[in-house]
Amino acid sequence: MSNSSLVNYTLISPHKNSPRNNSIKKITIHHMAGNLSVERCGSVFQSREASANYGIGSDGRVGMYVEEKDRSWASSSPSNDNQAVTIEVANDGGAPDWHVSDAALKKTIELCADICRRNGISRLNYTGDSSGNLTRHNMFVATTCPGPYLQSKLPYIADSVNAILDGRAAPTPVPVTDLGEITYQVWDDVTHTWLPNVADNSDYAGIFGCDVDCIYANVKGGDMFYRVSTIKNGWLPEVKNRTDYAGIYNEPIDRFSARITLANKVLNYQAHIRGGGWLPVVTGCDINDSNNGYAGVKGQPIDAIRMWLTDKPVVNTEPAKPEPTPEPEKPAEPEKAEEPISEPTPEPTPAVEEPKQEPVTEPGPEPIQETPSEPVQSGPEKENVTTVTDTETKEDTNVKKINWKQKLTSRKMWLSIASFVSMLVLAFGGKQETATQVTSLIVAGASIIAYIAGEGFIDAARNSTSEKSEEDK
Ligand SMILES: [Zn+2]
Repeated sequence: MSNSSLVNYTLISPHKNSPRNNSIKKITIHHMAGNLSVERCGSVFQSREASANYGIGSDGRVGMYVEEKDRSWASSSPSNDNQAVTIEVANDGGAPDWHVSDAALKKTIELCADICRRNGISRLNYTGDSSGNLTRHNMFVATTCPGPYLQSKLPYIADSVNAILDGRAAPTPVPVTDLGEITYQVWDDVTHTWLPNVADNSDYAGIFGCDVDCIYANVKGGDMFYRVSTIKNGWLPEVKNRTDYAGIYNEPIDRFSARITLANKVLNYQAHIRGGGWLPVVTGCDINDSNNGYAGVKGQPIDAIRMWLTDKPVVNTEPAKPEPTPEPEKPAEPEKAEEPISEPTPEPTPAVEEPKQEPVTEPGPEPIQETPSEPVQSGPEKENVTTVTDTETKEDTNVKKINWKQKLTSRKMWLSIASFVSMLVLAFGGKQETATQVTSLIVAGASIIAYIAGEGFIDAARNSTSEKSEEDK
């Protein structure tokens, strides 16, 4: 019986039974009822007649106090503790919630997955009572342990651990350099991959018709905080920048909420409903504000998102408000926005590549921004004003009219086709294996087509920029 390689600190407690009289079949979660470091927790278990196999500090560090081969004195149940690896988690908040830091929660999931792997536990089953193999202290004795917050997270912990055990959890994506003011990507439920990063509203992240499960994002020059709600589990903890991603693999999200720390910028974000259209643009961050606090609709899967920044109005009082609202102005702007987007493609074509790159490369270091940011931003604002269905139609037209050449070389388009065909195969009674093979074939074929087509397009400067970001995946 091995111990976890995630351990940062070891101080073995004398309070244990060695060896345990049963094999490891369960994991039991406790809270420390205090914000103890793993060192402090270890010293408590030296004196107090109690112990746990592991402890996790609010900083996410792991302490070991009883080796896994031995039984800890943790859960007021010898029977449970002989079968369980017990984990004490520090609280970064007090009674009554006994909150736990996101770092500690994340490490709890990783440690549980590690314990399951090494001990042949194929699945964590949280039943809410002691018949499951994810148990809690208050199943065995009247105690607040593990506290309301951590207890509410047990289904999420079990789901996340199972995703890792099933191999459904793709590796955490690697942080990318800024492609624009906001750079973001999503984990797609059908292709089971992190889709390419996109920047600002030059594109959207997601594939229409395929659920988004996770979001991974950062903003240049500041911090970004964001969270998602899964249809199954509701709101998950907020994450910061790319220290973590928001979401659970294979759990479609229905809402997301985000905020940034840039004082003079406003974060605009928007969700696209699967089988529907783009919802209105949101600028606030409050999960209790269904008007302007989050993007999405409870219970309706999101299949794409987009985010971009605008300058914060200088005046914050009433006079400023007329600006965002005027509806007559908006319809006019999109016209301007569409032209600059479509023109650069045909116009520079006859020209040599060199001169073209100058307009493409903006004063800033971001090559992704194809057009001045202002006209681009007016696009989505327009859609905010129009109805959802209208927006959808216009969106499609825009895509066809403007970007079809690019789309031919776009991995995203081929992924859409691949997932559609694979769904057809399944719909006509094909096996999952067949569908997967067909998908792979299409994607592989698309790579060749994309290569050949890519050679033919003279606007290679533009393509190479976006292709590179896609190939990074
Ligand atoms: Zn406890």
